Amino acid sequence: MSIVRLFTTITVLVGSLSMPLMAAELNIYSARKEALIKPILNEFSQETGIKVNLITGKADGLITRMRSEKMLSPADLLLTTDVGRLVRAKSFGLTQSIELSNLSNLYIHDPNGHWVALTKRTRPIIVNPEKVAADAILTYEDLTKAEFKGRICVRSSNNVYNQSLVAAMLMQQGEEKTLEWAKGLVANFARPPKGGDRDQIQAVAAGICDIAIINTYYLAAMLNSEGDSARAAQKVQVVWPNQDDRGTHINISGVAIAKYAKNITEAQRLIAFMLRPSSQKWYSEVNQEYPVVPGIEWSKTLKDMGEFKAESVDLEQVGHLNPKALKIMDKAGWL
Ligand code: FE
Repeated sequence: MSIVRLFTTITVLVGSLSMPLMAAELNIYSARKEALIKPILNEFSQETGIKVNLITGKADGLITRMRSEKMLSPADLLLTTDVGRLVRAKSFGLTQSIELSNLSNLYIHDPNGHWVALTKRTRPIIVNPEKVAADAILTYEDLTKAEFKGRICVRSSNNVYNQSLVAAMLMQQGEEKTLEWAKGLVANFARPPKGGDRDQIQAVAAGICDIAIINTYYLAAMLNSEGDSARAAQKVQVVWPNQDDRGTHINISGVAIAKYAKNITEAQRLIAFMLRPSSQKWYSEVNQEYPVVPGIEWSKTLKDMGEFKAESVDLEQVGHLNPKALKIMDKAGWL
């Protein structure tokens, strides 16, 4: 009897000692700010018992890090915004094909499963409604009109959101028209590009310019803030361009499984978790991004900005056209 008890005690001891080594883990390299991702990762850990180790940084920095770490990289997942970056990671050989059979309801992903979209974001135009008539701008092309000379603010061409905007136009309108557009846009700049999207919203509100191009989640976050930032956001109005033709530019945030991932099952579980309705709703409420899964309710702020027709392009191709887009911006003098 006592031998059995001793044996049981030893088994329990060995079991508890080996537990920490056996615990499932997941290493994430995230270009998304910790505050914008941590709550949902905590929920995932609580539910699954999988410990998540999060390393946050700038997307290009994380990609460079993975390239230099090579097969020693601890990263299981790369979480980042913009298809341009996901395609870049894939083209550097930093990703691997994800088994998509259990993710049948998702509809934006790399053709070979190298990345999966988690949210959608859109990049429309904003105006100061006191200075720009409601029907003066109906398309991105309208931004090149002579009447808007010295009235447009937009961030730099080294920003991937603008690169993807131009890449998507390039894909749909061809090189000649896109270069003409970029030149016309640059000719109408109110100032040399500087700052982020929030700064462009502030600039429109402050009267430095009357028009800007921005991602809506920045505007939504400002609307939900307090003080100067909220007041600035309230002064601008969203214009959904190209509603009668190709639609407003959209992009994604997404995730890729790292080429040398060791915790693939856990990585797949997290992706499935991120795509389930409650997580998609969380993204919309907290990050003010659009769900990728159909039928999920948008946040109130997004609903208030209105529904719109989004462009329908092969995002993988948009990613591939990134270097060409950059060349066009350069040629047009978009700093
Ligand atoms: Fe952003």
